[in-house]
Amino acid sequence: MDLSKKKIIEALKDQQDIFGDDLFEEKIIENKSVKLPQQQKEYIKPEKKITAVKEPFQKSVQLFNDSKSDWEDAESLEQLNKMISNCTKCALHKGRTNFVFGSGNPDADVMVVGEGPGAEEDKQGLPFVGRAGQLLTDILKAIKFSREEVYIANIVKCRPPNNRVPFPDEMDACLPYLNKQIELIKPKLILCLGLTAAKGLLKRKESLTALRGQIFDYDEIKVMVTFHPAALLRNPNWKKDCWIDVQKFRKLYDEIII
Ligand code: SF4
Repeated sequence: MDLSKKKIIEALKDQQDIFGDDLFEEKIIENKSVKLPQQQKEYIKPEKKITAVKEPFQKSVQLFNDSKSDWEDAESLEQLNKMISNCTKCALHKGRTNFVFGSGNPDADVMVVGEGPGAEEDKQGLPFVGRAGQLLTDILKAIKFSREEVYIANIVKCRPPNNRVPFPDEMDACLPYLNKQIELIKPKLILCLGLTAAKGLLKRKESLTALRGQIFDYDEIKVMVTFHPAALLRNPNWKKDCWIDVQKFRKLYDEIII
C-alpha cells in the first residue's frame, strides 16, 4: 500500500473514531463484499436501549447460549486465560502472533477497555504496551491510578489485520470473554477507550462526541467513554477533552469508592 493510501485510511479511521460516521461503517462492510447474517445486521441497528439504562443489560454472551462452554465456568482469570487462549471463534485468530488476554489487578475497582491489540501488543501478548500504552499509563497516572491497580483488556483479543477496526461479528464473538473477565473481576467502574470499545461494550450507535461525559450502567457498573490513546497520539489537540473526561471519571471513582 502506498503512503498516500495509508494516510487516507488513517484519516478515515480518525474520523470514524471521533464522529462515529455510520456511512463510513456501511462502506467498510460493502467494500468487503461480505453478506452479513441477520444477527450481525441487528447488531448495527439501533438497540432497544442504550443505556444509562436502568433495565438490566442484555449481555451479548446470550447470543451464544445455545450450549454452555467450559470456559463459562472458569473460577479465575488465570483459568479463563488457559481455557480460551487457543480460541478460533472468529477469523482474527488466523493473523495473531499472540492472544492478548488482558493484564492488571484481578481485584481491580477500575477496568480500562480498549479496542484490540496492535502490532506491539500482538508481539508481546500484552495490552497497551506500545506508544499508546505509554500514553495510557501517563493518563492513568495523571488521575492518580497506577497500571498495577487497574485491569486493562480489549474488546477483541486477537489483532485485526493492519490494525483495522474489528468487524461486528468479531466483536460479538469475543465479547463474551470480556464479559466473563468483568464477572470475575467485579469492577465498580469501566473506562472505555475510543468509539469501538464503547460500541462493543455498550452497543451504542452515537458518536464519541455524544457518548463522552455521560455515565452509563453496565450491569450496575458505571461506564464512561473517552478517546483512545492512539487517537490522541495522532491528534494531540484532543488531549484537553480527554483530560476533562478522565478527571470526571476520577471524581466518579472517588464518589463511589471513597
Ligand atoms: S478475537 Fe476473540 S473470538 Fe476472535 S479468535 Fe481471537 S479470542 Fe477468539
